[in-house]
Amino acid sequence: QQDNVKQAKTDPLTGLCNRKEFNEQLNRAIDDSTADDDTCLMYLDLDLFKNINDTMGHAIGDQVLVEVSHRMQAILDVSDTLARIGGDEFMVLLTNMNHRESVESLAKQFIKKVREAFHISNQELTLGVSIGICKYPQHGSTAGDLIKNADIAMYKAKEKGRNQYHLFDQQLAKELSYRLQLQKDLITALETDQLSLVYQPQFDIHTLEAHCVEVLLRWQHHTYGMIPPDVFIPLAENCGMIGSVTDWVLKHALEDMVEWKKNFPSLTLAINISAVEFSPQLNLLNRLTQALDTYAVDAKDLEIELTETAFLKHPQHAYKLAKQLSDAGISIALDDFGTGYASLTYLVQLPIDCIKIDRSFVTGVEHDPKKQAVINGIVAISKGLNVSSLGEGVETPDQLAWLNQAGCNSAQGYLLSKPVSAEQLPAAISQVKQQHSKAA
Ligand code: C2E
Ligand code: CA
Ligand code: CA
Repeated sequence: QQDNVKQAKTDPLTGLCNRKEFNEQLNRAIDDSTADDDTCLMYLDLDLFKNINDTMGHAIGDQVLVEVSHRMQAILDVSDTLARIGGDEFMVLLTNMNHRESVESLAKQFIKKVREAFHISNQELTLGVSIGICKYPQHGSTAGDLIKNADIAMYKAKEKGRNQYHLFDQQLAKELSYRLQLQKDLITALETDQLSLVYQPQFDIHTLEAHCVEVLLRWQHHTYGMIPPDVFIPLAENCGMIGSVTDWVLKHALEDMVEWKKNFPSLTLAINISAVEFSPQLNLLNRLTQALDTYAVDAKDLEIELTETAFLKHPQHAYKLAKQLSDAGISIALDDFGTGYASLTYLVQLPIDCIKIDRSFVTGVEHDPKKQAVINGIVAISKGLNVSSLGEGVETPDQLAWLNQAGCNSAQGYLLSKPVSAEQLPAAISQVKQQHSKAA
């Protein structure tokens, strides 16, 4: 009988209490709390645990979890409650906080202890932990609210990088509810006329002829006004809507393209594709080829702009997919090149057609020998690999002239054309030649 009761309350692997029991203890702590007796909650999520599980197997993963629970327990008082509430998630309930060291200092100790190497089956493994903290009663009056807010704070800690803690605050709650609201509204936006497209041409640096236009998405929200894609694209990625967003962009851009082809038959279309869409489930190849079929657009007239992050999560699949896209005739440009994970491996292994040199190198390049060295290097690599290079974010005639003499093939930026509507595109393309032929 007693064994059964115990089983219902504990996590079988670690012997810690489980989520249900933790909830009950938290409720009890709230009921028993007195005015001068602060209660704190920590939400802990291990960093990189999935890697260990995936590469070393579950048996090793389990041993790591047990060891982690021992290390954490050693930092706590007997009156504290440590629970394992999910795969690699733990919660801590701390009472009597007025009479002991601060919750922040405890969080630091947890981080330090979890970071120490684990020696399991003759292997040395490392881990990290992200911690969200909230306090009763300042940050919530019910167990549900406190757990939710500690979880929100934990996500913020993750965003800061690994091995961080974050204390909940109301600003954070507002930020989150804003994001959740936007996520909901994006569904409506896709069905109504709140989304629109603008196009930014890419020019041959010698002739100043436009050879390609990049499509950029805009969202005019009915109450918040213009929301930048840097804000809503990550939201769409997180809530599984990015595929629908891309399909929307593709459909409307191809419609526009069919129109402009009448006047500019050789102009190609570049579309931004999120790294998330390089995951196996999203069937990118089929979606792209189907859309091309529907609008009778040649695959050679479509380019996708990717960042290197596309190859991080599912490298095998991503390489295969890139090859299939390329075989189908679709071009691939490496976007924001030089930032993020910049790995030359991708250049060697992937069928890339163009390297887009990130704006951060182009801005101020005319005065900055270090940026000049980087761009010269990228241009040399692209020539060696026989792929074209494009300078992004060109804003001044000096930058354009500099990129030209460095041997860059194409340029894009406010100097030549800001992103414009489909209707404005013909004018934006035609004006450039007269205006800037001296700089190039
Ligand atoms: P990106 O692909 O690097 O796009 C270039 C961004 O730089 C665009 O901002 C563009 O308006 C801006 N830009 C272009 N020339 C200049 C310049 O000379 N100076 C300055 N200061 N900025 C310039 P935008 O439209 O806000 O897009 C931001 C990012 O959002 C894009 O970065 C892209 O990563 C993403 N994005 C935009 N549309 C889409 C889309 O349809 N799908 C996906 N997946 N991502 C998109
Ligand atoms: Ca781009
Ligand atoms: Ca870019």
